[in-house]
Amino acid sequence: MWMLFSVGGASGFFSEIEKSIVEAFKEYFPMENKNLIEGDIIPDARESLSYNAMTSESKRWYKGLVPYVIDSSLRPMEPLIQEAMKNIQTRTACIRFKPRSGERDFILIKKGKGCNSYVGRQGGQQEVSIGEGCESFGVVVHELTHSLGFHHEHNRSDRDQYIKIYMENIDPQYGSQFRKKSPNENRLINAFSYDSIMLYGSKSFSKSKRKPSMTKLNGETLTEVHHKKGLSKSDVERIRKLYSC
Ligand SMILES: [Zn+2]
Repeated sequence: MWMLFSVGGASGFFSEIEKSIVEAFKEYFPMENKNLIEGDIIPDARESLSYNAMTSESKRWYKGLVPYVIDSSLRPMEPLIQEAMKNIQTRTACIRFKPRSGERDFILIKKGKGCNSYVGRQGGQQEVSIGEGCESFGVVVHELTHSLGFHHEHNRSDRDQYIKIYMENIDPQYGSQFRKKSPNENRLINAFSYDSIMLYGSKSFSKSKRKPSMTKLNGETLTEVHHKKGLSKSDVERIRKLYSC
């Protein structure tokens, strides 16, 4: 399935071939879960402010070490998940994923409904779902980066200086996905980045997928997460800063 995701580019709205792919695989925008915060974030029950921006120190993984278990339901996906972990490990030269060996806190990567994750370490077992349609390298890196403690780029308090949101093109049930944080809900580590793996693409939550939900201020298309090649330079910088690497 994820071969199809690599068809089409990041520019133009949209070629005929892209349109037909989008129509045929409409359901494969699996990060679009209307009941979850900002599409694919599982709310933290312990926090009254669910939109709390960047993770607090207490939600970092100790020494950047993330114990994991890959559920047997994802056995065929294991090489892709390993590649995604390797991307984060190699690029940050700081975060490490290790198979769980009795640690109390760990991520359980399983085939749930859609793709979603908690933000930061929750304590005990926490699930990262890589469900149907999430079989792309970029999406797996995105979900793992949530688990490290990062929220979406398009919800930042300063996002209007970088992107334009077209509410008229957004499916009304998903309008809340574009909520802008107030400055005191943010913990912005570095500048807004178009290349961030945490920034959704222009088709995300769009009514028809033919008109953009958001673009750069100059109208240029934003690349979909499943077309991205893993962490950007900016993502690496912010992860290293959050984890004091
Ligand atoms: Zn997300």
